[in-house]
Amino acid sequence: MTQENGFAVFSPTYRRETAGQFPGIREMWENHEHATLNEIATKSAQTRGRKILVEKCDVRTEFQKDRDRITHSKAFRRLKHKTQVFISPEGDHYRTRLTHTLEVAQIARTIARGLRLNEDLTEAIALGHDLGHTPFGHTGEDALDELLPGGFRHNEQSARVVELLENDGNGLNLTWEVVDGILNHRTACKPATPEGRVVQISDKIAYMNHDVDDAIRGKILSSSDLPGAIGQMLGETPSMRINFLVKNFIENSIGKKEVGLSEDVAKTMLELKIFLNNNVYANQLVHQQERKKISTMIRLLYEHYTAYPELLPSLSLTAADYIAGMTDRFAMKQFSEIFLPQAWEV
Ligand code: MG
Repeated sequence: MTQENGFAVFSPTYRRETAGQFPGIREMWENHEHATLNEIATKSAQTRGRKILVEKCDVRTEFQKDRDRITHSKAFRRLKHKTQVFISPEGDHYRTRLTHTLEVAQIARTIARGLRLNEDLTEAIALGHDLGHTPFGHTGEDALDELLPGGFRHNEQSARVVELLENDGNGLNLTWEVVDGILNHRTACKPATPEGRVVQISDKIAYMNHDVDDAIRGKILSSSDLPGAIGQMLGETPSMRINFLVKNFIENSIGKKEVGLSEDVAKTMLELKIFLNNNVYANQLVHQQERKKISTMIRLLYEHYTAYPELLPSLSLTAADYIAGMTDRFAMKQFSEIFLPQAWEV
């Protein structure tokens, strides 16, 4: 290996020199980050580190390693069967919490690359941001929030999953920057890194657009219901709107210390959020009936596991941890086994 303009360059004899090992590849990418990324970008070599010190990988940067730890976690696999908005949808084309997460990651990576921020850190935060989401989307979250004395917020639970619950109660031992981005992805929070900020906004860009798309698929909205001003500014289709918002974020952030959407676009996004709140998330009769059933089910499960903590699968879990970790179908299965008479099968 030799150095050239801050980059590690492979010499022709590299393979022989390294004798089958890969020393220097992570260092090469660390140098690459310093040489090419935006001055406000978070550099992996300068991470504040992990709670438990572990040897660095020869090949991957610290943030790449975190991305892989998240992707290989059980909580990540369970996102497949957790509701986004439509509760246990029968149709194959509705978003789940997993496809939402992947859409957030793609949008966030595009913005990060456009601004020369740390794409690996951005991706790790995006893939981990909803790991603590309850079953049944925000209906499930609201139900737990009412039951717990201190309330329940899925961003805090996501941080609890990666810090404590995953890996049989040992946590994933992620870097400080990834945990901060996961913990602070909600609107009311302020992430410490620009990459965390990118994920915070990308989450909204993703869900506002795919929730409109799914609401049209579910015949709750028709494309003409969207207020004209929103369509005129952001675009008429989900792909036009995502494209517009990504470009606005990048163009508005170039050369700035604080990254984000321009003020007028952020305001229109807020109008879209209010429109979705009124017309999709809360204002449907069928949805209201389902909400009541879900709240009752979560409450009964919570009371049951609080009364019989010995039924929890591990000592480190609370009733809320166990319920928040369930997929929609696992929660329904547990409810059925506990509260419904079971048919006798021989
Ligand atoms: Mg999300």
